[in-house]
Amino acid sequence: PDSANVKVVVRVRQFVKREIERNAQCIIKMDPETQTTTLLSPSGGDASSRARKEEKSFVFDKSFWSHDANAAHYAQQEDIFASFGSEFLDHNFDGYHTCIFAYGQTGSGKSYTMMGTPQQPGLIPRTCEELFDRIRREGDQNTTYNVHVSYFEVYNEHVRDLLVPKRAGEPLYLKIRESQTDGVYVQGLTDSPVKCYEDIERLMQIGDLNRTTASTKMNDTSSRSHAVFTLTLKQIQHSLSNDETVERTARMRLVDLAGSERAKSTEATGQRLVEGGKINKSLSTLGRVIAALANDGNQQKGRNNRREKVPYRDSVLTWLLRDSLGGNSKTAMVACISPVDYDETLSTLRYADQAKRIRTRAHANIDARS
Ligand code: ADP
Ligand code: MG
Repeated sequence: PDSANVKVVVRVRQFVKREIERNAQCIIKMDPETQTTTLLSPSGGDASSRARKEEKSFVFDKSFWSHDANAAHYAQQEDIFASFGSEFLDHNFDGYHTCIFAYGQTGSGKSYTMMGTPQQPGLIPRTCEELFDRIRREGDQNTTYNVHVSYFEVYNEHVRDLLVPKRAGEPLYLKIRESQTDGVYVQGLTDSPVKCYEDIERLMQIGDLNRTTASTKMNDTSSRSHAVFTLTLKQIQHSLSNDETVERTARMRLVDLAGSERAKSTEATGQRLVEGGKINKSLSTLGRVIAALANDGNQQKGRNNRREKVPYRDSVLTWLLRDSLGGNSKTAMVACISPVDYDETLSTLRYADQAKRIRTRAHANIDARS
């Protein structure tokens, strides 16, 4: 297997309207040479809070400056895709599973990065479009391509299919199953066959509509739910010379996580957060999974040095993404940060810094028979 670290990039967004209106100051600096992101000490506040909020720097695989369009190193949607979306597609065509997930507080640009807007499409539409472009460019008579799409969200530890409309008063929650052959999967999840980009575009629209309809009714679900978009690419290659069939199966997971401000089940004091409903179990478990995996990567396993148990099964999201996080997958994380919020941004940068230490072991999923 191909052992590699999780690729971690960070992206800072531009000011939104309300920040411009209150004349906000940007507290992020990035160095395009060294890929360092620096969190500056915010001006204002009393001396003790300024001392606590000191300048901190982190180095990532990439630091994407999307704060002001005039900067020479400004990163647009296209640059994010070019930096690893395209590379991950190469891996998919070789039969590797991949996963890209967006982490960050609500309003930091996760959905913009993953889905984007019709004028500024993000990683998901670009990946889908490029996938079919490649099939068109590289396909030959002896290869059959099957592409499937699923889209679900995890909300309050329930899985909901985003490709079927929610009927009034009737929540459609799906069960998670595990099998020898398929691993962990969602039972009864719609897995739509698609023939072209336009097919996927329609499904994305249905899915996003289902997601937002629920969010206006249910007190902002989109900041509390995790949306998982999955493309499955199967390539069946038949060789006429030796009558052998080679099947490559790759799964691409593109995940828009709930707002990271929901992760804090325990505060610095170790105190439990009282508003039980606000704790996002999947997100706090994801934090523990990442910490355990990062530790694992650090550990030199000696005789008495047992591996820490990774708590995948403690939440729905981590159970479903087990392979993507610590197993058979090439994985990347986009840490999205706001240019104004010191505490949340520091917490995201630390999280991302930890994720850099995770190693996954991907292998090409190839099945040959004659
Ligand atoms: P999240 O999904 O993390 O809650 P959004 O993606 O909805 O955050 O972004 C919050 C707001 O900021 C939206 O209005 C979005 O269009 C805008 N935004 C986020 N990132 C960028 C960016 N890189 N460039 C321009 N606008 C952005
Ligand atoms: Mg969002």
